[in-house]
Amino acid sequence: MTRWVSESLYEGCHQSFRADKILYEEKTEHQELIIFENDYMGRMMTLDGIVQTTDRDEFMYHEMISHVPIFAHGDAKNVLIIGGGDGGVLREVLRHKNIQCTIVEIDASVIDMSKEFFPNHSKGAFEHPNCNLVIGDGLKFVKETKDRFDVIIVDSTDPIGPGQVLFTADFYQDCSNILSDKGILVTQNGVPFYQADEVTNTYIRMSPYFDYMSFYVVAVPTYVGGFMTLAWASHNPDAHKRDVIDIRKDYEAEGFKTKYYTPEIHVASFALPPYITELMQGRDE
Ligand code: SAM
Repeated sequence: MTRWVSESLYEGCHQSFRADKILYEEKTEHQELIIFENDYMGRMMTLDGIVQTTDRDEFMYHEMISHVPIFAHGDAKNVLIIGGGDGGVLREVLRHKNIQCTIVEIDASVIDMSKEFFPNHSKGAFEHPNCNLVIGDGLKFVKETKDRFDVIIVDSTDPIGPGQVLFTADFYQDCSNILSDKGILVTQNGVPFYQADEVTNTYIRMSPYFDYMSFYVVAVPTYVGGFMTLAWASHNPDAHKRDVIDIRKDYEAEGFKTKYYTPEIHVASFALPPYITELMQGRDE
């Protein structure tokens, strides 16, 4: 019998994918993990019934959440990833020469199974000499670490289950404290067409701790509903305005190819439609 995996994220509508082959299913210590094959999307991963990543469109999200803050900073040496156990963000971050990267993921099963079933996500990045892997809670890590980071990337699940703490004012304040002078924080912030509250709440909870806070956008087919927002906060109020010519120089000097990110898309991604900017005026719940 054909099995369909349905995403249960929004009230009143959902998307479903045909599981042409179930590859792995586990109730880990933290969440329900399913990895399956879909004819169109390739391999897919869900956690607690919510799509995390697919072979076919992962590059869009992973390139935009990694290269925008790193090229905007211009001299990032020390990067922190919170979550990101599939390895896609780590792969993109470590394409930059001279970057040391610490990744803090709460669920070791996500890493182990991603290495096995999504080898092209990490492409060996967990074994890279510049990778420091920590298995633990991101909230605890940012509270206790003595290190300082130029860029922090929060590649989390949605604000339910273990990811919930990564959407709190407490967490954002601790991230602010461990960023270097011109540091940049970016976080996965949902699809505002469906998850409007996430933009409003993040704006209210995050903006007090930074000189500048806004969002930028990326369209990812499996994060259905139009643009996804990535929250942007920095101690440098001008980082998001870096000139496209300067970004292009750095991008060409790195010499790697991308499939979604370009310096021009980088600059354009900060232009927000009014239905998103209006959400920044709302009140916290
Ligand atoms: N790109 C995906 C998305 O937006 O749906 C997120 C992918 S990544 C698999 C999310 C990871 O965040 C998961 O592996 C999960 O275990 C991890 N995570 C959730 N809560 C966490 C926490 N408190 N500390 C560290 N990692 C956490």
